[in-house]
Amino acid sequence: MKVSEKTQAISPAFIAQVRQKIAAQTVEHFIEGRFQPGVRGELFESLDPSNNQVLARAYRGHAEDVDKAARAAKKAFERWKLNARARKKYLLKMAEVLEKHGDELAVMECLDAGQPLRIVRAQVARAAENFSFYAEWAERAMDGQSFPVDGEWLNYSVRVPVGVCGIITPWNAPMMLSTWRIAPALAFGNTVVLKPAEWSPLTAWKLAEIAQEADLPPGVFNVVQGFGEEAGDAVVRHPDIPLIAFTGETTTGALITRNSAEHLKRLSLELGGKSPALIFEDADLERALDATIFQIYSFNGERCTANSRALVQESIFEAFVERVAERAARVRVGHPLEPETEVGPLIHPEHLKRVLGYVEIGKQESQHIFGGEQVGTEGNYVRPGLFVAENHHRIAQEEIFGPILTVIPFKDEADALQKANDSRYGLASYVWTRDVARAHRLALYLEAGMTWINSHNVRHLPTPFGGVKMSGTHREGGAHSLEFYTELKHIALPLTEHPIPKFGR
Ligand code: NDP
Repeated sequence: MKVSEKTQAISPAFIAQVRQKIAAQTVEHFIEGRFQPGVRGELFESLDPSNNQVLARAYRGHAEDVDKAARAAKKAFERWKLNARARKKYLLKMAEVLEKHGDELAVMECLDAGQPLRIVRAQVARAAENFSFYAEWAERAMDGQSFPVDGEWLNYSVRVPVGVCGIITPWNAPMMLSTWRIAPALAFGNTVVLKPAEWSPLTAWKLAEIAQEADLPPGVFNVVQGFGEEAGDAVVRHPDIPLIAFTGETTTGALITRNSAEHLKRLSLELGGKSPALIFEDADLERALDATIFQIYSFNGERCTANSRALVQESIFEAFVERVAERAARVRVGHPLEPETEVGPLIHPEHLKRVLGYVEIGKQESQHIFGGEQVGTEGNYVRPGLFVAENHHRIAQEEIFGPILTVIPFKDEADALQKANDSRYGLASYVWTRDVARAHRLALYLEAGMTWINSHNVRHLPTPFGGVKMSGTHREGGAHSLEFYTELKHIALPLTEHPIPKFGR
């Protein structure tokens, strides 16, 4: 995802038009190619994080709605699974239509999720890329291997789609994170029921419009809006949804694992993180500084792979903390639709309370250096914060999911590695050093699904994405998604009349 230094503004007239559309309509479910109200007719409200006023009203889905969606998806699966070329065509069309509506998606995501325009524009581009990238995979989905056995057997394997995929997404980057799962699921012949987060329902709604415009066959892509414990749980427990791709908190991932156990569902869990950046005295400190600041304060700090723990070598520690403090003070906090904004409002007053709670914990337990306070009285704005801590402190161990950086000193490589791995999480890690051997050594021993050396998190769709320990269970991306969204079947064909035991003759 490329985040530009400068972002083009969106005209006030267009923003007003999108606001009007959101205010005039109720966000409906999208089932079997049609927008429809919830069976029970109950609604919930989504707030604008910049002022906490009601932004949208959406239908609160229940098991009945999920059942309708699952049936539609199951029916659509029978045809969808058969034609890979058609799937490729539809996915390319999805990418094209999505790009066409890029500004509308961007406005919705800024208003609904509070993410700054510069971030959201990059996410729109990534969402389109998710479809165009996996479109190219559609026709390779059935590839398998052959296993000839001594001229007697021709055994072979093929991949077949799993069926209806339940995709459950969080509120921080809804469009990017949902399309990252929807695109491969569809490309490999599955159909989808999406349950977006209740705090940011809008871009899933728009995505359904995009699916309509792209003429996706009815039932291939369905959206049920609502709450996790209701609609989400119904997806998790539905017998006709054999696969769940979930992104969210570790505790929710554990709950979903338990609740789906009865049906032995295939699960891919992308969960929380407390990712370390290990910054050595021999590193290119300017680049390390830029990356560390970007990685924690961009996305409003609501980023699963944020380097929320900066481990910095003692010899450069004080200077590094001073530099971060200077820069943090200059980070522009503002309305998400302002092109200059670097940090927007946190998603919801409840999340604001949680983040401010951690700032208080940090003030008691650790050394408060800068920021972390609420900005203004309207909305959920927080000034980027900075603490010096010990690795066992709560703000160094628990996921805050806000713009709060915890910096921890280390002595040498062994100390850095020990501290980095002293965490229940294992999503990403970052190593900053000019010592090539050390960088690779650490990458090998860091307990994390992903390590970036002398780089911030630059994603590449073919490479594996996912965490270890309490950060997740699977890898997705490229061929790894192919593995997850398909079943590998073995087919055996005898080339001769092989002997069959004659029981009961
Ligand atoms: P949650 O776990 O609270 O929610 C994620 C989704 O699960 C939401 O749609 C939610 O619905 C739903 N849900 C909640 N309870 C259940 C249930 N019992 N059964 C089924 N679905 C349920 O996460 P957040 O939305 O708070 O997102 C933040 C978290 O996501 C952070 O921990 C972050 O690290 C993680 N994340 C991980 C990423 C990764 O790739 N590893 C990427 C991005 C975020 P509802 O909205 O109604 O609660």
